[in-house]
Amino acid sequence: MGKIFVYSAFCLILSFSLFGQQPNFEFNKGSICKRLTTDIYILASDSFMGRKSGTKGEQLARDYIITKFKEAGIKPLFGDTTYIQPFNLLQKYICTYEKNYFSSNYVRYYLYTDFSPVIYSSNDSVSGEMCYVKFGITAPTLNYDDYKDKTDLKGKIFIIELSIPGGYKKRSEFMAYSSMSYKIDLAIKNGAKGIIFINSDKKYPFEPVKLLPGFKKYPLPVIYFNKKLEVICPKSSSSNKAIIQTEIESDNAGIAYNVAGFINNNASSTIVIGGHYDHLGFGGSGSLSPNSNQIHNGADDNASGTAGVVELARFLKNSDLKKYNFILITFSGEEEGLKGSEYFVKSAEFRKYKFNYMINLDMIGRMDSSTKKVELWATGSSKKWKELIKNEPATSFAIKCVKGSIRDSDHYPFYKNRVPTLFFNTGLHPDYHTPRDKANKINYSGETEIIVYLEKLIKVLDSNDKLKFRKTGAIANSRATIYMISEMIRNINTRK
Ligand SMILES: [Zn+2]
Repeated sequence: MGKIFVYSAFCLILSFSLFGQQPNFEFNKGSICKRLTTDIYILASDSFMGRKSGTKGEQLARDYIITKFKEAGIKPLFGDTTYIQPFNLLQKYICTYEKNYFSSNYVRYYLYTDFSPVIYSSNDSVSGEMCYVKFGITAPTLNYDDYKDKTDLKGKIFIIELSIPGGYKKRSEFMAYSSMSYKIDLAIKNGAKGIIFINSDKKYPFEPVKLLPGFKKYPLPVIYFNKKLEVICPKSSSSNKAIIQTEIESDNAGIAYNVAGFINNNASSTIVIGGHYDHLGFGGSGSLSPNSNQIHNGADDNASGTAGVVELARFLKNSDLKKYNFILITFSGEEEGLKGSEYFVKSAEFRKYKFNYMINLDMIGRMDSSTKKVELWATGSSKKWKELIKNEPATSFAIKCVKGSIRDSDHYPFYKNRVPTLFFNTGLHPDYHTPRDKANKINYSGETEIIVYLEKLIKVLDSNDKLKFRKTGAIANSRATIYMISEMIRNINTRK
C-alpha cells in the first residue's frame, strides 16, 4: 500500500474521531476482516518505519492506537486521563575489543576472556606500577587495616581482592566493608589511579562484571581480572607495570510508551487483553536478515496482534459482558526484551487490580492455510484452560496446546505475577524478523477466525468464576528457541 494512501486514510480516521462520532461497528466476519486489514496495513506501512521503541515510528503507531481506542469508545486506563504510560528504555552497555585494553608486564589480556570493565569504571586510560593491597579494607573497630604501613601508594594501580578477610561469609563482621563501591572509594583516598579487582576466594558469590544501569561512575578505570594474582604480578618481578584502557559505551534509547484503554464494569477483577505494537524499525541487532537496514514492517510481528487487541476493544465495548473489567493494552519495548510489559506489571497501575486472566496476542497473522494450526502457549497456567479448550473447540482451525509458558513474549511478566495467561500465536515463518514480514502476506481470514474464537472464549469465561493460577514449567528461552527453530525448519521443508 502506498504511503500517500496510508497517510490520507490515517488523517481521515483522525478527523473522524476528532468530531466525536462513533461508528457503528458490525461484528460479522466480513466487517471484522475489513477492520483487521485496514489496521494491519496502516500499522505495517512504511510510514510507521517499523515502529521501533523510542522512535518517531513508535509514536505514530501509538497515536494511531489511541485514535482507534477513542473511536471504539473505551476510556483511558492511566489515571482515567491518559492512554499512555511512558517508560525509559533502559540503557544497554557495550564494551568493544578495540576500546578496552589491559596488559601487565607487556602481556596483553583479552576482553571478557580474561578481564572486563566494571560498571563503576570511568572511560579512561592509565599506565603505571601495580600494587597489591589485599582486601582494600580499613576497619578500625575490627582492628584491621590493609593500608597500614603501606607507603608510596600515590599514583599506583591497586589490585584488590573482591572478598573479605577470613573468606566470604554472610555473618562476617567484615560484610560492612565488602562492597565494591566502598573499596573503590577507599582506594581513591589512598591515591589509586586505577583498580584491578581479583578474586582468590572460591566462596565469593557475585558476578562482578554485570553491567547494570544506574550505578555511580568513579573517576578512574576499574576492571575485574579473572585470573590469579601471580599471573599479572609475578613475585619474582619487583616492579610490575600495567596499562588499562576502559570504555563502556551506552545507548540511551529514549522513552517508549505502553498504550491502554479500560472498560470499567466496576467489577472486583479484571481481564487483560494485550499484545506488543513495537517492532525492529530499520533492523539492527534483532534482525535475521542480511539486508538489515531496510524497514522491518512487522505485519505479523506484531501489527497482527495489535489489530487483534483493537478489534477486541470494539467487540467488548459493544458487548454485554459486565462481570469483569477489561484492560486492552498494547505494549512497547517488547523487541528490546519485554520492557513495556515488565514496566507495566511493576507499576502502581498493575497493583490497583485483581486479575482474572491475561491473553497475549503476538504474531497471529500467519495461519497456514493448509495446516490451519494455532498455538496456545501457557495452557498449564490455570487448570481451567484445558477444560475450556476441550469444551469449546475451534471449528475453523486446529489448536495446539503447549502447557509451559514461553519466556519471550508479553504474557510472561503476568505469568510471573501469578496471573493465568494464554498466548496465541500462529507460529514462526521464514519472514520472521526480516523486511519481508509485510502486510500482503497476512492471512486475514485466518486472523478473523482467531478473533471470532477469542470472542467466544471470553464470553464463556464471563459465566465462570475468576480463574485460579497454577504454576507450570516455564520454558527457558533457549529451549523455546530450539523448539521454534525446529518448527520453522519443518515448516520450510514441508512447503518445498
Ligand atoms: Zn518480534
